[in-house]
Amino acid sequence: MFIELTDHLRCPADHPEQFLVLMPSKMTGRQVEEGTLGCPVCHRSYPIEHGVALFGSTEHTDVIDDADVAEREQPAALDASALVALLGLGSPGGYVVLVGMFGALAAKLAEELPGVALVLVNADAQTDDLPFASAVRAPTIPLKTASMRGVALGPRFASDPAWVAAAVRVVLPGNRVVGQGTEPEQRDLEIAASAGGCWVGVRARGGYPAATSE
Ligand SMILES: [Zn+2]
Repeated sequence: MFIELTDHLRCPADHPEQFLVLMPSKMTGRQVEEGTLGCPVCHRSYPIEHGVALFGSTEHTDVIDDADVAEREQPAALDASALVALLGLGSPGGYVVLVGMFGALAAKLAEELPGVALVLVNADAQTDDLPFASAVRAPTIPLKTASMRGVALGPRFASDPAWVAAAVRVVLPGNRVVGQGTEPEQRDLEIAASAGGCWVGVRARGGYPAATSE
C-alpha cells in the first residue's frame, strides 16, 4: 500500500466519515508492508499485512453460493484499453479504483494510465503486490467521499446496490463509474451508456452530502 493513500482512506464502520491514523511497522520505500490503521472515532484498528490493508469481511468473497460462483467466473468483458476509454481518463494524476475482477487489469491499466495510482479493492490475491497499486480488502470502498477519478466495478459488485452506492460516493462529481453487471438505478448516477453487459455512469455534480468529519 502506498503511504500516500493513507490521506484518502476512511474507516468503513457505520459512523460519520473519518480519516485513519497510520502506524507503519515495516516500509519498503514508500510502500507500507506491515502496520496498523487506527480509527479515532470507533477505535477499531485494521492491520496491513504483506502490503494489503485489511478492513474485515469482504462479504462477497466470504459467502459464496452457486450464483455467486457463476457470476465470479464470468470473464471480464473489457480489456484495459476499453476500460480506460469508458472511464474517460486522458491525463495523469489521482487515483482510480478497481473492484473485484477488474483488479486483474491493473498491470495493463498502469501502462495505459501513467501517473495514475490504482487502488485494488477485493482483487485476486496474485495482484496484491504490484508496485504501482495499493490493495485493500473491505466490506465497502474504504475511501474518502468525492476523491477518486474513476471506479470500475467488476462482476457481482456492479450488480450490488450497496457497492454501486459506494462507488458513486467516492468518485469525483462529473467523473465516471464503470460496471460489468445489471444496469443500476442509483441516486446521483446518470447512466450514460450500456452495452455488452457493461454500463457507464456519471456522478451528478453537486447535491451530494459532503463528508461530515472534515
Ligand atoms: Zn471507525
